[in-house]
Amino acid sequence: MKINNVELLISAVRPAQYPEGGLPEFALAGRSNVGKSSFINKMIGRKSMARISSKPGKTQTLNFYKLEEDLLFVDVPGYGYAKVSKTERAAWGKMIETYFTSRDVLKAVVLLVDLRHPPTADDCMMYDFLKHYNIPCIVVATKADKIPKGKWDKHKKIVKEELQMEKGDPLVVFSSETGLGYDTAWAEIESRI
Ligand code: GDP
Repeated sequence: MKINNVELLISAVRPAQYPEGGLPEFALAGRSNVGKSSFINKMIGRKSMARISSKPGKTQTLNFYKLEEDLLFVDVPGYGYAKVSKTERAAWGKMIETYFTSRDVLKAVVLLVDLRHPPTADDCMMYDFLKHYNIPCIVVATKADKIPKGKWDKHKKIVKEELQMEKGDPLVVFSSETGLGYDTAWAEIESRI
């Protein structure tokens, strides 16, 4: 999908701030530094629309980006950053839970994991949470360019096993550097609009 127009509609915390309009939404979630901003920028064909994080864990808002008049990307603040206080972590949890469980235009969550490493406990918790609430999930494994192609299958298997992924859930191998997985990721999103 070629995106020409991107607009940051709002950085929201509370449901009252969520945008109206009823367009389908896709939330992007993952631990800090996993490559979420790079994924968003690659998918929308921008260099720096979603800020590449210099301070991981700092953006504690849901950022709603409108792509054309077709859909919204909702950038969820990254998790698993050690220096976040208990209070901030709790506020983050509440904000995410409220959004994920109350937003009926939410079509799927794109869960980003790092293909190089087994998913973290936080990744597993996020996947379980989505399954618990029956929220469709597209798993995207980033930074594939950092490991040799011959090892992708082995790493994919580890991701699937560790998350205990359900058979129907897609796993897209992705690289923001090379553009690998771009078409597949868009196809997965578009099939849910
Ligand atoms: P975020 O914290 O999840 O938003 O992660 P960023 O998008 O800011 O990326 C964290 C770091 O990983 C940055 O230095 C990126 O340049 C790098 N990065 C992200 N995606 C890729 C990728 O697909 N390949 C490589 N080689 N580096 C990546």
